[in-house]
Amino acid sequence: MRDSTCGSACTRLVAPTSMPPNLPALLAASLSEVEAVARAAGYSPHYARVARREVLSGRPKPRADVVPARLAEALGEAFAWRSSTVERAADDDDGAQKRLVRLSDGEVVEAVRLPGTGTPSACLSTQVGCAMACRFCASGLDKVRRNLGAHELLEQVSHLRELGPVRRAVFMGSGEPTQNLTALAAAMDVLRDEAELGPRHLLVSTVGPPSAVDRLTALGRRFTLALSLHAADAATRASLIPTQARVVPEELLAAADRYWEATGRAYQVEVVLLGGLTDTPEAISALVDLLSPRRARAHVSLIAWNPVPGMAFARPDAAAVASALSALRAHGISARLRATVGGAADAACGQLRARVLADGAR
Ligand code: SF4
Repeated sequence: MRDSTCGSACTRLVAPTSMPPNLPALLAASLSEVEAVARAAGYSPHYARVARREVLSGRPKPRADVVPARLAEALGEAFAWRSSTVERAADDDDGAQKRLVRLSDGEVVEAVRLPGTGTPSACLSTQVGCAMACRFCASGLDKVRRNLGAHELLEQVSHLRELGPVRRAVFMGSGEPTQNLTALAAAMDVLRDEAELGPRHLLVSTVGPPSAVDRLTALGRRFTLALSLHAADAATRASLIPTQARVVPEELLAAADRYWEATGRAYQVEVVLLGGLTDTPEAISALVDLLSPRRARAHVSLIAWNPVPGMAFARPDAAAVASALSALRAHGISARLRATVGGAADAACGQLRARVLADGAR
């Protein structure tokens, strides 16, 4: 494994932390299991929730003045505070803080803390790798290796909260969340009940297909849906996401409409702007046609592509981005340019992990 150089961004190995003991993770246990340990140690079961909240807040273990030392010892004998460790850090001048998280079986995933505008967010991975193989994304290069457990999603929040506050969780890192619905639902429940993140602060991004969006809606959880449309034209979308070649963009949006009907919540439509491909006047005009009837429920999020080494796409130029934004707005469609942060720190999806794997760090 090699350490890398520092420029505008700095990628570095972090100080080695001791490997977690080979015990079930605290956040993998149910609340009642943790309560049982507290009771057996002679303490009120309410300490179970307190201890979990401490870890969810980003503490490697509960503070001594919050959880009595003898109880902490009993809990520490029954559970690992966290089952994963942070192995590498990449921080960017724009504030993005990417962490490479080593899971208990040796796999690695990325988690990124994004400073946002007053709402620091955690971008979380739901799978090791990704089966969707979007051509512009580094996470799809390695295919999917496995789903993450709910506690592994929550531990990413814990690791990122060690760096600073996190008030929003976006399931937008490596992996397709709808392929890991059980863990996703369980993690959202804990974040809602034990980390006080409301529906506006839980965002799930999916590329589809429509049946997957319907399954997500059927979970009955309150969250914000972000649909990774990327192109209104079916052939262009199929070329960018070959695993979705049969998905018709209109049908994908119809599934998002059903989410809106079921929840009353507007949804986001994500479009990655690739120079000369999805940022052209023709591509944006097709988007306008698709979204004009959906003005009241769809908000467009344009994302200027972060270059990934070896991928033959171009970052859009500033004029094309400005023109895409004004064309959408001129038709009454709510649109914004999502700040892309962390490009220098490999913060585009999957880049740090891909680079570390290429370095032979696994
Ligand atoms: S963009 Fe998302 S869905 Fe596509 S390969 Fe990357 S992680 Fe998977």
